Amino acid sequence: TGYALPPTEVSTKLVVLAGPTAVGKGTVSTYIRENYPDVQLSVSATTRAPRPGEVDGVSYYFVTDDEFDRMVESGEFLEWAVVHNQSRYGTPRSPVRRALREGKSVLLEIDIQGARQVRASMPEAVLVFLLPPTWDELVRRLIGRGTESPEEQARRLATAKVELAAQDEFDFRVVNNKVDEAAREVVDLMNIS
Ligand code: 5GP
Repeated sequence: TGYALPPTEVSTKLVVLAGPTAVGKGTVSTYIRENYPDVQLSVSATTRAPRPGEVDGVSYYFVTDDEFDRMVESGEFLEWAVVHNQSRYGTPRSPVRRALREGKSVLLEIDIQGARQVRASMPEAVLVFLLPPTWDELVRRLIGRGTESPEEQARRLATAKVELAAQDEFDFRVVNNKVDEAAREVVDLMNIS
């Protein structure tokens, strides 16, 4: 896939953060972006519409279906997936490659299908699974954020059950009880050699 770096160089640098819906991946990622400036957060491209407050190029690159097709065809993605049976999301390859070449740590906040693709193409990546303290807490968080309809909530909870079953495929598990502590644990994993 064009990665010329020796495995020892990248093994502690590329971290994939995945986990079930509503576990707080976005919150932990945002906390890391704001408090650990040495870590480069990958900005994904997505075909979904921006939510209020989301800025193009910061939260995501918001692209059309045609543009996403073009990016897929020209091999611009390190991985991409259809998430929640709806929109497409993908990690642009070149910023990741550039950051690793510069010796920076890179964090990908992606779904589990994406994590599996990264594992296949970059076996040296560190895969971290973010867990809720309990199942009931996950349900509480999903309902509490109030961004999905009841039907969509039910669909996401069903997906979350399947997603939780994938945790054994990951290298590390971090429980997202307090955001600052979970973020710290994730960042610490970047420095393990
Ligand atoms: P949301 O629409 O709530 O921002 O994100 C929905 C899901 O898409 C989350 O589980 C998030 O981790 C996942 N996601 C975001 N960016 C990417 C990406 O580039 N690749 C993959 N595979 N999943 C992504």
